[in-house]
Amino acid sequence: MKSLLKSLTPLALLAAGTLSAHAAGYPQPDKVVTIIVPFAAGGPTDRVARDLAEAMRKPLGTTVVVDNAAGGGGTIGANKVAKAAPDGYTVLLHHIGMATQPSLYRHLPFKTMDDFEYLGMVNDVPMTIIGRPTLPANNFGELRTWLNANKGKVNLANAGIGAASHLCGLLFQSALKQEMTTVPYKGTGPAMTDLIGGQVDLMCDQSTNTSGQIEAKKVKAFAVTTAKRLATPALKDLPTMQELGVKDFQVTIWHGMYAPKGTPPEALKKLNDALKAALKDPEFIKKQEGLGAVVVTDKRMERAEHKKFVAAEIAKWSPIIKAAGVYAD
Ligand code: ASP
Repeated sequence: MKSLLKSLTPLALLAAGTLSAHAAGYPQPDKVVTIIVPFAAGGPTDRVARDLAEAMRKPLGTTVVVDNAAGGGGTIGANKVAKAAPDGYTVLLHHIGMATQPSLYRHLPFKTMDDFEYLGMVNDVPMTIIGRPTLPANNFGELRTWLNANKGKVNLANAGIGAASHLCGLLFQSALKQEMTTVPYKGTGPAMTDLIGGQVDLMCDQSTNTSGQIEAKKVKAFAVTTAKRLATPALKDLPTMQELGVKDFQVTIWHGMYAPKGTPPEALKKLNDALKAALKDPEFIKKQEGLGAVVVTDKRMERAEHKKFVAAEIAKWSPIIKAAGVYAD
């Protein structure tokens, strides 16, 4: 048998079913790459993933789809990818939660730095503070007055512990010295529906989810969380928290892509190449910029730099989260 195998060409071996999928090259055009989004469909992480899937399809040479594995503030989907077959066909798109969850969860079911291959960063996204359309406040000053008059009664939507909206909400409550009741959703897509419907009062969420609703005046907008005002037409009139006198309140979230630990080097290289091609795709850039996001152009698009950045973000947020005293099991 051995000598017979030796005498066959790779193509003949493939036809005979004796050559493994990996040896046949990655990706196989009949196999689908699935991007797991750890939040509900229709939200901002989902939106980035769907645009990215479209932009990566051509450079990768196979179909790329998005699957939502929502819950646990993003930890369920991340865990799913950490435990998935390391074959290059399952990847994760996650945000700053990758860096805040190690401090927020007592029993995180995966190791952020050890259980993933880092594939590169995607974008930096500002957060915006928004409210239900029926809120009596029309600007940040009026919001503060309303908050003071309604202490203990205010609801704040988020996408669960470890979500970007959770982190921003924590900073917001601590900066304003106001305690609010947090209402967790599986993603800020469904949370937005409730905010527009008036079931919750406030939310801090990515501009990729809020700019369209702000422009359509379906929600009230109070501030951006970046150091400078944004250029995006829908958001350019929104003041920064610094301008509003709330010092030290700055948060920009980011997205990165991950594969399960042990994914073959060939697949990692092709995924990183396809991601970098997407980041240079004018269509992708245009879509992201229109929503206030900034597509990564720096060295963080490289795998090693992405990993370094996440390690630095874990170190940055850990003392802030510890000081806030918030934990989940
Ligand atoms: N924006 C959400 C968050 O708060 C997640 C999402 O639904 O994409 O992290």
